[in-house]
Amino acid sequence: MDRLLRFGPVARLSLGLVALSLALLMTADWLFGFASNQESYERQSRIMLGQNLASQLAVFIEQADERSLGKTLQRVVVQNPEVLSIAIRQSNGVLLAHRGEHAQHWIPPETGFSTDNNIRIPLMGEKGHWGDIEISFSPKKPKTLLEWLSQPVTMMIAVISIGGFPLYYAYLRRAMHYLDPSNAVPERVSRAFDSFAEGLLVLDKDRQIVFVNKAFGALYGHPIETLIGVKVDELPWLQAAIADIDRSQLPWERTLNEQMTVNDLRMTLPTQDGATIELAVGSAPVMDDNGNTRGCLVTFQDLTELERANRELRVALAEIEESRSLIKAQNDKLLLLASRDPLTGCYNRRAFFDKITDIYSQTLRSNGHLCCIMTDIDHFKRFNDLYGHAVGDQVIRAVVRAIESQSRGGDILCRYGGEEFCLVLTETTVEQGLAIAERMRTTIESTAGPAIRTTDVGTITSSFGLASITDGAPNIEQLIEQADDALYDSKKNGRNRVTLWQPKKTVAEVAS
Ligand code: GH3
Ligand code: MG
Ligand code: MG
Repeated sequence: MDRLLRFGPVARLSLGLVALSLALLMTADWLFGFASNQESYERQSRIMLGQNLASQLAVFIEQADERSLGKTLQRVVVQNPEVLSIAIRQSNGVLLAHRGEHAQHWIPPETGFSTDNNIRIPLMGEKGHWGDIEISFSPKKPKTLLEWLSQPVTMMIAVISIGGFPLYYAYLRRAMHYLDPSNAVPERVSRAFDSFAEGLLVLDKDRQIVFVNKAFGALYGHPIETLIGVKVDELPWLQAAIADIDRSQLPWERTLNEQMTVNDLRMTLPTQDGATIELAVGSAPVMDDNGNTRGCLVTFQDLTELERANRELRVALAEIEESRSLIKAQNDKLLLLASRDPLTGCYNRRAFFDKITDIYSQTLRSNGHLCCIMTDIDHFKRFNDLYGHAVGDQVIRAVVRAIESQSRGGDILCRYGGEEFCLVLTETTVEQGLAIAERMRTTIESTAGPAIRTTDVGTITSSFGLASITDGAPNIEQLIEQADDALYDSKKNGRNRVTLWQPKKTVAEVAS
């Protein structure tokens, strides 16, 4: 309904022209009286009727043919329904003949002249004025609608009103077609623009819209024909989006003022259903052959779907990231569990050898320093036997803590056997290694026992054996064996001591 009531500019102009034409016609009627001419024409025709009658009756009067006279009068009354009565009156006032209720209808004109309804036509004899024909007409009735409509002026108004509108409309449409600025855009160009997925406006230098493509119509959601000639910043649709943007920063303003090509200014527009659409608005200048800016091309790219997809993607990525870090944490935990001894947290033998094999061969190649310490808790079996297995476990943990308190970051500690540990000290000379082993021994001796609070286990000691890479072990296994030999020597020589591995002398060496 709203659409029906909305007139386009051509329809409005056509209505205006019809109204102007009617006004002109009515002015002309007022000035030149087309309508009153109609009335005087009617009066004239009544007089004519009287005059024609007068010339006929004059003959009958001259011939004293009263019969023909009466017949003629009768015919006039019968044939002219508007004639109420007719009479012939001699100049002395005597009524010679009459038809109809003449005495009732005839109102003698006061001025002596005929009136519209009472017409007097003189009859002239040889001796001058002989008498008059008096015709009484029915007074003019108010016109019926049909009569009123059939009047020429009414007809003309009706013709101009009804016929003028479509004629003017058709003519103006044709004229507008030539004047329409959008026709400045050649047909093939507008077809190409219409094939764009992006909404597109062509503006002139006054920011007026001279072309709109179909995609813009789809974004705009209303008929686009009425947009031609509208200033772009006055588009109610855009008002909400550009209200917060400095006018000089609007893409088309920058293009028209600074001849700049503007890319992707983001705008958020509310839609009729309360949602929003995200737009990327760009603008590029339209130049003439002389390089002058004649207008600009404004593009509107709907990013709503893209933004929605991006948002969903970001959420999915965050979820993936979260589960990835969860998996990584679990993997780290698994790795830790797989590579560590659960009682002490030291490396297990497999993880220890994984780590140390490469380090050892690298150090060997670079002639670097490296020491291996083997240590075994003295008389450990006794703790188990005296205080139970649980306390035995505490003793093992207390010894490890004491060893670790004297270790450096790069040292690698492995629970090699039940209460036996192997420690690799990288970049460590024999002297440094011996000093470290000695510190570890004394720390165990002084702190491990008191660290067990539940039971007084007395002093805990551990024996140490140390071997250095400089003694020529070709691989880590051999170096560990050397350290283990030295440990055995420590046990043999009274325990709770550090022994440096010494190459075994041959019989000949001993003899010399
Ligand atoms: P030595 O001074 O000669 O080393 O004497 P020792 O008693 O320490 O000798 P041995 O190596 O024969 O004893 C080790 C004992 O350690 C044997 C075993 O029952 C016990 N053991 C091994 N692993 C564990 C463990 O994880 N927890 C506990 N409580 N005991 C363990
Ligand atoms: Mg032992
Ligand atoms: Mg042992």
